[in-house]
Amino acid sequence: MARGARVVVLGKQGAGKGTQAVRLSRHYVVPHISTGDTFRAAVRQGSEFGRLAKPYLDAGDLVPDDIVIGVVRERLERRDAAQRGFILDGFPRTVGQAEALGEIVIPSELDVVVNLDIDTDTILIRLAGRRVCEDCGTNYSVIENPPRVRGICDVCGGEVVQRGDDTEDAIRRRLDHYERETAPLVSWYARQGLLATLPAIGTPDEVTDRIVGRIHQRWSTQEVTTAASVESQPVPD
Ligand code: ADP
Ligand code: ZN
Repeated sequence: MARGARVVVLGKQGAGKGTQAVRLSRHYVVPHISTGDTFRAAVRQGSEFGRLAKPYLDAGDLVPDDIVIGVVRERLERRDAAQRGFILDGFPRTVGQAEALGEIVIPSELDVVVNLDIDTDTILIRLAGRRVCEDCGTNYSVIENPPRVRGICDVCGGEVVQRGDDTEDAIRRRLDHYERETAPLVSWYARQGLLATLPAIGTPDEVTDRIVGRIHQRWSTQEVTTAASVESQPVPD
């Protein structure tokens, strides 16, 4: 089987984190862990946890760290993620969450933190056209990538709708939270030498190729470094 990977995807709303995370999850055969999808599913199911999260999601505010961290920790400790890796989409989003992640997974074990880079004009256009399947969370775009049958999910037949938080007010609040709470993580991961900032423009395939290319480049540098340190070991005589 292909080598697994441990990847964090950062990027503003509309950068295409979800789309890329799904593709990377298939490519590396590791679970796609999206906190946004997890919360939306809990809200749909009406679980207690969903009722707790709903007001935050509706307003475009961040769910409190302790709740989010508990959910992610439990998911990362499951066997598939612990053994092969994961694509984290939408987590971490605050310094507190990044610290918590550092306690669950040793930072040096992350393969890369991808920062999908996008300008605000493109974001606003993308979010206005964004639609999502209510049942399975597949993303669509009315302009670039509509479902084959209008309003019906290609993957599961569920209803394709506009997200409740893709309103002007909630989008503004989410972008605000991004600037204040998530943007600092870009320099945080840069300092740890894990960051790869890549343009989020082009076709989804082009963006995936960029990310996969970067991960493989890292792996080959690591191999060279490991081989070099093995070679430089003193040879016993
Ligand atoms: P977007 O990136 O477009 O805002 P997400 O699907 O990642 O969408 O998240 C949707 C909502 O779920 C957020 O606005 C927030 O309320 C909640 N959420 C998701 N991930 C987190 C997180 N890591 N910390 C706090 N809240 C989160
Ligand atoms: Zn669906």
